[in-house]
Amino acid sequence: MNENILLVEDEEALRMTLRDRLRSEGYVVDLAADGQQGYEKATQLPFDLIILDIMLPRCNGLDICRGIRLAGLATPILLLTARGQTVDKVVGLKLGADDYVTKPFDTMELMARIEVLLRRSAPRSGQGVHKFGTIRVDFRGTQVTRNGEPIYLTAREFQLLRYLLEHAGTTLSRDEILREVWGYGDGTFSRTVDVHVASLRQKLEDLPKKPKWIVTVPGLGYRFQG
Ligand code: CA
Repeated sequence: MNENILLVEDEEALRMTLRDRLRSEGYVVDLAADGQQGYEKATQLPFDLIILDIMLPRCNGLDICRGIRLAGLATPILLLTARGQTVDKVVGLKLGADDYVTKPFDTMELMARIEVLLRRSAPRSGQGVHKFGTIRVDFRGTQVTRNGEPIYLTAREFQLLRYLLEHAGTTLSRDEILREVWGYGDGTFSRTVDVHVASLRQKLEDLPKKPKWIVTVPGLGYRFQG
C-alpha cells in the first residue's frame, strides 16, 4: 500500500486517533488542523486521497473541496460531515467530493470507504504523463492542463479519461465503461457514460461537437485515438 493520505480535521483527539489508525493500516498520513493549512497542503502536495472535515476554522471543507477541483486536481475526497447536515453532503458531492461519512462514524466503515476510493482511482498501467494535442495528463499528480492552464475535472471524469487513455485505440462499449469506471452492472445508467463523455469533450476537445480524441463508434461505444 503506502498510499499518501491527507487528513484535514480540527478536533485534535479525532485527528490523532485517525492518524494512528490510518498508519496502522499502512498509509502514509499528513495532517492539517485548520482549513487554510488543509487547502495549502491539498493543492501543493501530491496525495492519493484527502479526508476532509467540513466544519473547520479559517476555511470550511466545502470551500476547500471546490478549491481543490478548481485547481484541476482529481484526488479522491472523502468528507466528514456532522449528523443532520444533509445539505452539506449534497453540496459537497456537487462540488466534486467522492464520498462522505457522517460523524460519529465507525472506523471500520471509514477504512472500507477509503479502500474503495483508492482502489477505484488506482492507476493500472499508466503512472506517468500522457500528452495529446495541447493537453497534458499527469496521473501521479492527478492533474490535467491545456496549454499549461489547469483544467477542472471531477474525480469521475478523471477516472473515465484514464480508462480511455489506458485503452487508447480500442473501442469500448458503454457497458464496459460503466462496469470498469463506475463499478455498475450491465445496462444500468448507460446515459451516464454519454453525459460524462460529453463533458470531457467540452473540456478537452478544440471542437467538442467534432471530437478529435474521444470519438464515438456508432452502435458500439467510444474510442480514444491519439
Ligand atoms: Ca470540525
